Amino acid sequence: MPLVPMRQILDEAAKGGYGVGAFNVNNMEQIQAIMQAANDTNSPVIIQASRGALKYSKMIYLKKLMEAAVEEYPHIPVALHLDHGNSVETCKQAIELGFTSVMIDGSLKEDAKTPNTYEGNLEITMKVIELAHPLGVTVEAELGCLGGIEDGHGAGLSDKDVEAHLTDPAQAEEFVKQTGVDALAVAIGTSHGAYKSSRKDPVTGEVLPPKLAMDRIIEIHKRMPNCHMVMHGSSSVPQELVDIINKYGGKMPGTKGIPLEEIKKGIENGVRKVNVDTDSRLAITGAIRKVFWEQPEKFDPRDYLKPAREAAYQVYVERMKAFGQAGHAGDYKPLTLDDMKSYYKK
Ligand SMILES: [Zn+2]
Repeated sequence: MPLVPMRQILDEAAKGGYGVGAFNVNNMEQIQAIMQAANDTNSPVIIQASRGALKYSKMIYLKKLMEAAVEEYPHIPVALHLDHGNSVETCKQAIELGFTSVMIDGSLKEDAKTPNTYEGNLEITMKVIELAHPLGVTVEAELGCLGGIEDGHGAGLSDKDVEAHLTDPAQAEEFVKQTGVDALAVAIGTSHGAYKSSRKDPVTGEVLPPKLAMDRIIEIHKRMPNCHMVMHGSSSVPQELVDIINKYGGKMPGTKGIPLEEIKKGIENGVRKVNVDTDSRLAITGAIRKVFWEQPEKFDPRDYLKPAREAAYQVYVERMKAFGQAGHAGDYKPLTLDDMKSYYKK
């Protein structure tokens, strides 16, 4: 099975009422772990790469690893998606490389730091749609700004600013109508990276999970029941993974991610794509630290990369089951980009 257009994976998820994890990758071990997890849970899946990942993997390696992935698991629908494209040029490069979906993040300017105007966002999103849809490629856009910085990407908003940059449902409706975008990333209080919250319990001082504006998701879904929403920054940052890192010499202070229950609530209200990056990073780092700590005489990379891959695999399996994509890999016949070309012409 060749790579599948992301639009189809999201359309099918909407029909089935489930969410699909979009997992970030940088290397072979992550791709193998995701595909193994998708195979074992019979899940359609989205694999995504940021600009940082493309730079790290020198693009061509990532492309070839993905070719290997679809060859090894021909029965698993998998979309390859560009995460946070910052310009038409970046999206073009990804499409030429064979990505079946691109995100243009026009919520920020091309420097990937400064919040953009609504008009600026609309303009660049339209340009990418005009480029991508005639080729059958899916487009995700973003409205409103997320907190946090990841891979040098993000406005680094303070908690107060995050509040001011939440997605406005009326504007979202306008934006989707005007652009015809396939999926919309919404800002509802999630943020990128491992440190998503500065909320603390006033009594115990314990860090609390970020406060999510679930009402915005509900309102957008009410206005546009057919709009596929995307939740970025949706790692749960499980305490047990942070504990492993800290137990074996790491230093990660108190942190909380997005509880799975909140993500499930989002999925019930139209979220179809759930972005998870940090949780796999935590699992990998913890597993490697454990080997280094317990067996300091080891020096064969396989001795720590194998447990790292297994730890990431566990995270992917859990997420695929929690988001509901498990069991759905065989539900439909995959479309090609050519099929999508005629779909967009209509
Ligand atoms: Zn993101």
